Amino acid sequence: MALVFDFHQGNKDQKDLLGGKGANLAEMTNLGLPVPPGFTISTEACRGYLAGDGMPEGLAEEVDVHLARLEEAMGRRLGAAEDPLLVSVRSGAKFSMPGMMETVLNIGLNDESVAGLARQSGNERFAQDSYRRLLQMFGATVLHVGGEHFSAALDEAKRAKGSDDDLDLDADDLRQVVTVFQEIIEKQAGRPFPQDPREQMELAIRAVFDSWNTDRARLYRRQERIPEDLGTAVNVQAMVFGNFGMDSGSGVAFTRDPASGNQGVYGDYLQNAQGEDVVAGIRNTVSLADFEDIDPTSYADLLAIMARLERHYRDMCDIEFTVERGKLWMLQTRVGKRTPEAAFRIAIHMVDEGLIEMDEAVRRVTGDQLAQLMFPRFDERAERTLLATGMNASPGAAVGKAVFDSDTAVEWAERGEDVILVRKETNPDDLRGMVAARGILTSRGGKTSHAAVVARGMGRTCVCGAEALDVDAGAREFRVRDGETVREGDVISIDGTTGEVFAGEVPVSDALVVRHFEGEKVDDDLVDAVGRVMAHADGARRLRVRANADTPDDAARARRFGAQGIGLCRTEHMFLGERRALVEQLIVAEDEESQHAALDELLPLQRQDFTEILEAMDGLPVTIRLIDPPLHEFLPDYTELSVKVALAEQDGGADQRDIRLLEHVRRLHEQNPMLGMRGVRLGIQIPGLFAMQARAILEASADRLEAGGRPLPEIMIPLVASVRELDVVKHDILGVAEEVEEQRGVRPEFTVGTMIELPRAAFLADRIAGSAEFFSFGTNDLTQMAWGFSRDDVEAAFFSRYFDHGIFDVSPFESLDQLGVGGMVEMGTEKGRHTRPDLKVGICGEHGGDPRSIHFFDRVGLDYVSCSPFRVPVARLEAGRSVLARR
Ligand code: ADP
Ligand code: MG
Ligand code: MG
Repeated sequence: MALVFDFHQGNKDQKDLLGGKGANLAEMTNLGLPVPPGFTISTEACRGYLAGDGMPEGLAEEVDVHLARLEEAMGRRLGAAEDPLLVSVRSGAKFSMPGMMETVLNIGLNDESVAGLARQSGNERFAQDSYRRLLQMFGATVLHVGGEHFSAALDEAKRAKGSDDDLDLDADDLRQVVTVFQEIIEKQAGRPFPQDPREQMELAIRAVFDSWNTDRARLYRRQERIPEDLGTAVNVQAMVFGNFGMDSGSGVAFTRDPASGNQGVYGDYLQNAQGEDVVAGIRNTVSLADFEDIDPTSYADLLAIMARLERHYRDMCDIEFTVERGKLWMLQTRVGKRTPEAAFRIAIHMVDEGLIEMDEAVRRVTGDQLAQLMFPRFDERAERTLLATGMNASPGAAVGKAVFDSDTAVEWAERGEDVILVRKETNPDDLRGMVAARGILTSRGGKTSHAAVVARGMGRTCVCGAEALDVDAGAREFRVRDGETVREGDVISIDGTTGEVFAGEVPVSDALVVRHFEGEKVDDDLVDAVGRVMAHADGARRLRVRANADTPDDAARARRFGAQGIGLCRTEHMFLGERRALVEQLIVAEDEESQHAALDELLPLQRQDFTEILEAMDGLPVTIRLIDPPLHEFLPDYTELSVKVALAEQDGGADQRDIRLLEHVRRLHEQNPMLGMRGVRLGIQIPGLFAMQARAILEASADRLEAGGRPLPEIMIPLVASVRELDVVKHDILGVAEEVEEQRGVRPEFTVGTMIELPRAAFLADRIAGSAEFFSFGTNDLTQMAWGFSRDDVEAAFFSRYFDHGIFDVSPFESLDQLGVGGMVEMGTEKGRHTRPDLKVGICGEHGGDPRSIHFFDRVGLDYVSCSPFRVPVARLEAGRSVLARR
């Protein structure tokens, strides 16, 4: 199998092998677009290299063959003394990781060929500028010299010239910079800069391979859930020169606005610059409109190509281009990253433009994006102090304390503070701080700057290019042009949707999309786009979506958001507050009489709870779980009570009630409450408890029937491991039902089912289904029980190590462990339905709102997922996408 491919050998669907950049360079080459020729070393070669055996066998020879072909096509030899061929060596993984890995430009220059380049081009300044760029990038990337050495030397050269613009450095200045850079390399790297062009290339290829494993690349992959073992491809490509003079330049562009999704090209251009200058923000870029004035011909070519790319990819594209002496070259394209609102707008616009079908539109947006559109926005009616307005680079409303470096951002965030990372511009080393921050604010750079691209990728709020701010990271403050100063720790608010920066904390209000889900009439094109996508997803999906709701308010909201019932109504909170005393009385009761008294008092209260919830969900099923948590949660703390009693005894005698209570607390004290007396065990231990709850449910249903309603309660027994447990409890419940029917003269419709949240229950699901009329997988507990760890104890303790070792790529509490816990869900469903073919099966637990997990539950044939009310729209969308993904 070959390891190296010419650009014209590949196509856009070969991202696995060629990486995204390589695959798309190949696609553009085959479309006949002006792409500098080159070849791609496959990800396969990188994986071989990273596995530790050095450069894969035969790779060097293959590279030689392709290089020779490239030299022939170009009529130049790599690094030749006269008229040298120069190449770039570019990283490019399957999934774009902007700026996380390395690229080296101008490979092939050395002390001789730089003179050849100068002679051949008649442009000495350009030749020296290219050489100093090579030394700088090669030094930092390949020889691991700290980048600050080079930038300090460059700044020094500019200072000597009395300028802060690199364009003011002439050929002589740059020749000196080249000498200084070579000295820096020799001193810092302990070896001279390699003069042999083929050695430069070889070392650069290794460095690109190695850059797969830098800390920032790993962190980015974890954040973006990109697998660790993919490796990167390497693209070797003939150089074109944007730094040739003012008739040359480099730019980046989007075929639509990546922030709003609106039609119209969007981009930045920089004259007399190589590509890396554009994103690095060393000089301020100009807009594409200005580019049109500068070079109308190249602009027209660019627009024609962009239109062609959009039609070809049927999606918004993001491109890099360079103009060399008035000729346009394409250096990169990909389907562009976009904000959530842009994703919805673009999808719907493209349907209306006839480029894609509705099915495809729904596939192109995600539940996570929808969730972001539901985040609160700043309240426009609130009083606010505007400090500055920058670019609306990544939407959202973020409030936090201003911090000026990544370390502080991480440190403060770890102690629970919300922070906004404020920088002049960000670079890949700021990634840790960007992850930790609520939002990112920069004073330079456009919507295509590093900060903007990365923030959009992570869904972090970002305002960039707020030029009225003078950021002084050293002094940990920024000044606003009119004089106001914001120091580290001062609270600011940034609006990534409008680009506004406010002093202090601005209050937030509901997003328009939420108001739409709430049933309000909202006149807004984004809301319309969301509405159309949701309608199509609802039409496509098989899975039903219910909500986890414990209160009438939550139930009502869930219903407005499209919930088709309640999948989990927890009853434990109904025993807190003032009712806690009754529960205490129930537990400490020494005879049946006082136990009954406590239960009798609880009954009407419970009945009222259920009546209201059943009313809010009238006509839809409501799964009510009988009380689940261990009893000690309702009792005073053991240590506190012991101290209280001990102190009172010293002072001449403790309260009799306290002494008795302490005995009970001691008796009920558990080493391991999660594995202790809870769930159905509790129901069996205190027989009247479950019966009282069942009575409350059935009487509430009778009340609802009398009021003309249609209650559909489903009584759910938690933590069942054996069918006998279920039978014991079910027997009591059926007894209660008879009594209620006798007393009230109506028999409410109801079912009795169980949670499957213990491995034993999953294994014996066929038996349990003999008694249970429905199953609901409690995947929170099932995950804990399957892995044998408790969420509260382990997440902070050792999960980060597990991520480092790749044992998890995501927490199993966040996204279902499909192999293990998912395997039990699949088996339990199959076994259950074997016994009872019409068994209704759902899941409750946080996974019910997680996109990846929802797709799994759909595939294994569950009837519904249940999630928090706010996630209901997300689940509806993902349930639709799951079906459409298979279509
Ligand atoms: P990244 O993935 O970080 O964008 P790239 O490999 O795209 O890295 O390269 C960095 C910059 O160098 C980009 O602006 C790109 O357009 C530019 N560049 C890469 N190869 C060439 C080339 N052969 N000629 C001119 N510019 C190039
Ligand atoms: Mg690029
Ligand atoms: Mg549970």
